[in-house]
Amino acid sequence: MRFLVLVGSIMSGLGKGIASASIAKLLKMRGLKVGMVKFDGYLNVDCGTMNPFRHGEVFVLQDGSEVDMDFGTYERFLNEDIKGSASITGGKIFKKIIEKERKGGYLGEDVQFVPHLTREIKNWVKKEAEGKDVVIIEVGGTVGDLENGYFLEAMRQLKAEEEVVVAQLTYVPITANGEEKTKPTQHATRLLQSIGLQPDIIICRAERNLKKETKRKIALYCNVREEDVFNDPKLESVYHLPLIFEKEGVCKRILAKLGLKYRAANIKQWANLTKRINKGERVEIAIVGKYISVKDAYASVKEAIMHATAYTRAKAVLKWIEAERIEKEGVRALRGCKGILVPGGFGKRGIEGKIKAVEFARKNKIPFLGLCLGMQLMAVEFARNVCGMEASSSEFDKAKIPIVDLLPEQRGLSQLGGTMRKGAIKIILKENTLAFNAYKSKEIYERHRHRYALNREYLPELEKKGLVVSGMSSDGVAEIIEWKTSFGIATQAHAEFTSRFERPAPLFVAFLKAALEFKLKGKEAKNN
Ligand code: GLN
Repeated sequence: MRFLVLVGSIMSGLGKGIASASIAKLLKMRGLKVGMVKFDGYLNVDCGTMNPFRHGEVFVLQDGSEVDMDFGTYERFLNEDIKGSASITGGKIFKKIIEKERKGGYLGEDVQFVPHLTREIKNWVKKEAEGKDVVIIEVGGTVGDLENGYFLEAMRQLKAEEEVVVAQLTYVPITANGEEKTKPTQHATRLLQSIGLQPDIIICRAERNLKKETKRKIALYCNVREEDVFNDPKLESVYHLPLIFEKEGVCKRILAKLGLKYRAANIKQWANLTKRINKGERVEIAIVGKYISVKDAYASVKEAIMHATAYTRAKAVLKWIEAERIEKEGVRALRGCKGILVPGGFGKRGIEGKIKAVEFARKNKIPFLGLCLGMQLMAVEFARNVCGMEASSSEFDKAKIPIVDLLPEQRGLSQLGGTMRKGAIKIILKENTLAFNAYKSKEIYERHRHRYALNREYLPELEKKGLVVSGMSSDGVAEIIEWKTSFGIATQAHAEFTSRFERPAPLFVAFLKAALEFKLKGKEAKNN
């Protein structure tokens, strides 16, 4: 079995996920079957109960697993669905061991980190490697963190059992006078060595490509060859990284170290696509949310817009707007926008600001896209301002008409972790609707993560006043709604989760096209 274990040094936030995904993509472009595994040391079973402020986006897989946002990056690069078993958290591992111990699975033994815990980890990754040529293992966190120590120990052991290449992602700061400093990398490598792991390759994150002599110095101090030190510079988009790695010869070295024959990658199509990202006519898109200060909270939404630009010749200028700001100062911040997007979310804060944003879009015929909570609020706005109902969602206001209500199966749940309606669900689309025109299919699958939904009791009333219900799930949940008066569409699903660089999300492409058209129409009107 063959593994590439990628660890991060010095600090977090260097883009381990993007580096892992780029290497995986380059291997896949060579016709290899690549598996992905991510370790997260936290003791939560999954990140589903974590706050986006702390953790960033909770990504949802096809099978409903709630996983770290790096999985979003893997899927966006690899253009394939990944299974939940690829996410190995401290919580999952400890749960497994404790359950096994209670059943008597270790009868007579005292259960220890070594060998029991590390054996569980090794067995798990070996299982993930079945049928794969190479598995990329991204170790979450930073070398030296207490949380991932046992994962690194398991990797040390794995190296003695299988073909393993250790890739260290490091950071090379550049001083004000342009000096590239290698000392942090030297120290970080010592730290890695002290736990028994020698990096085979070193990937250097920096503001720019490093000088040859800097690479040479890193090689000298860190026991690697110069040709095993690679650049990971600041780029125009994350999708450019595979091109850089290919030029640097990253895969050539990895294949050699793994004992695999060299083969060329077919990278042309990807390279062409990167030339089209965010190039063309400027369109300002407002994203009205509540976790705006943490951009990672909406990572998939941002990427889905970026993908759509490559297929519409638009340059999206994203305006991140805190919903509470609209509550305080009105819709001023939305003026000039050619598209308004309200993403998913939980809790009451900022709700009225988002509803105002929907109203502003509808009344001014500005293209609108709502996702999950964004759909629920599109319905509330319509009920209030078109149907004249005193409506809300029972998530926020129990006294008003519950246009949006808790799903029946969600009532009386005592456990919050892992119990939302989630994962891929089949949606049946109505013909001659915005949704059908976007997807060009009667049946689609999109991913979900919610507890509330449109209350079916009130649907006829909303439809009578002109709201179009263009998508229904097979279990009877209203999944997509639209306006008839202008481009406005929203879905209970998280359409952003299935958007890939090579296969953009249909609703995002339709939304961006509408925003472009809206802009051009505005220009025409000015000229006449
Ligand atoms: N809070 C809403 C619900 O649970 C929306 C969830 C979301 O946007 N992901 O239904």
